[in-house]
Amino acid sequence: MKCEVIAVGTELLLGDVVDTNSSYIGSQLAMSGIDSHFQVKVGDNLERITECISTAAQRSDFIIMCGGLGPTQDDITRNAVAEVMGVPLVRHPELVEKIQAVFAGREMTDNNLVQADLPEGATAIPVMGGTAPGFVCEFKNAADESIVLYAVPGVPWEMMEMMDWVTEDMRKRSGFSGVIKSCILKTWGLPEAELAELLAEEIERLDSESEAGSHDNSASATLAFLASGWEGLKVRITAKADSEAEAIKILQHEEAAVRKILPDELIFGKDEETMETVVLELCKKQGLKLAVAESLTGGLISSRLTAVAGSSDVFLGGVVSYAKDVKVAVLGADPEKLAVSQETASAMAKGAISKLGADCSLAVTGVAGPDPLEGVEPGTIWIASVLDGECETVNIKFPFDRERTRQFTVITALNMFRTRLLKKMST
Ligand code: ATP
Ligand code: MG
Repeated sequence: MKCEVIAVGTELLLGDVVDTNSSYIGSQLAMSGIDSHFQVKVGDNLERITECISTAAQRSDFIIMCGGLGPTQDDITRNAVAEVMGVPLVRHPELVEKIQAVFAGREMTDNNLVQADLPEGATAIPVMGGTAPGFVCEFKNAADESIVLYAVPGVPWEMMEMMDWVTEDMRKRSGFSGVIKSCILKTWGLPEAELAELLAEEIERLDSESEAGSHDNSASATLAFLASGWEGLKVRITAKADSEAEAIKILQHEEAAVRKILPDELIFGKDEETMETVVLELCKKQGLKLAVAESLTGGLISSRLTAVAGSSDVFLGGVVSYAKDVKVAVLGADPEKLAVSQETASAMAKGAISKLGADCSLAVTGVAGPDPLEGVEPGTIWIASVLDGECETVNIKFPFDRERTRQFTVITALNMFRTRLLKKMST
């Protein structure tokens, strides 16, 4: 069963509003084990919306439309659906009541009642948080195949409230009664393309297995990548089975397979774990107090660490030594050395230990860009860490813009420190 998402709204095309609804709906479909092959955006134009619906009906079994269900002139999703179905709009008295109830005595303009009009044959979605009811309807495409279409509001929280009902309804209609379970393995250290290459064979194997079993809804697993910026590159494993126990078994089996394929150090966490929770936990297990010294990241590392509840058990504090003078005066860096150099990074890490009385430390200095600094190219980063009295440094070169350079420095530095902590534990 394939589902297509159509996001309606001229503001989406103009870039005024980012289409977060489609990504949310996409993630819900994935979690529900429903294939989604297309996501389309279309402006508030009757002809173009109907064209999108007709096209979707040729290639997908389910269509989810979001947006354009409100009371204003440009909210024409219901008209477009009625046109494709070749039916009139019918006013539903029970929806009129519901809409009036939402206003509860407040003044309501008559145009709000337009929202009680649904294409003939459509049913209102019983969940309704705002004033716009969503609806579901069935119609035949050009090839006389039955298509199910859902229309949900564009306001994100109203849409989200309805999505559980929608995916559940879809699963019922497609006859899938099984259980879907998924888990996420978070990685750092390899670009998406390389990660994909490592897992290519396994993905192909899973695809051919699920293709073979797609008609009888038999047990299967799938793998997907989610590049999530400085949260890491995620690998989602989804398992489909007849029972919860079987789904968990498939999931565990597939997780073991993925862990076997990927290098040990690459996977830093699972599900709720983040790079910072993992680093804090590793320090805590070894009874270590941590201090940081940051230049180009301006406190981002400290900010991420302190966002974790209970981080005070481990994290003592940080120095944002942005200016060279501060690196020298506060942390004891050599004024003769470049601000972005191995020597300065080491001095910062050692300075953080002595200034803050920590057991271990992490320091970063680099050129965030766009301009070079003291002749050092933008994207040049030095990371230093002190553990067991030993200072280690790493040099990296990022090809990114300022913001991404700063963010990737944060996760790369924490990851470097994580691997040192792991090594320490294993010896
Ligand atoms: P309403 O009853 O509020 O008019 P509606 O179904 O008509 O709901 P729209 O008018 O299309 O929804 O959108 C309302 C608001 O919801 C938009 O101004 C926008 O801020 C947000 N929105 C709409 N579509 C999306 C989307 N695809 N992704 C994220 N936000 C969206
Ligand atoms: Mg609207």
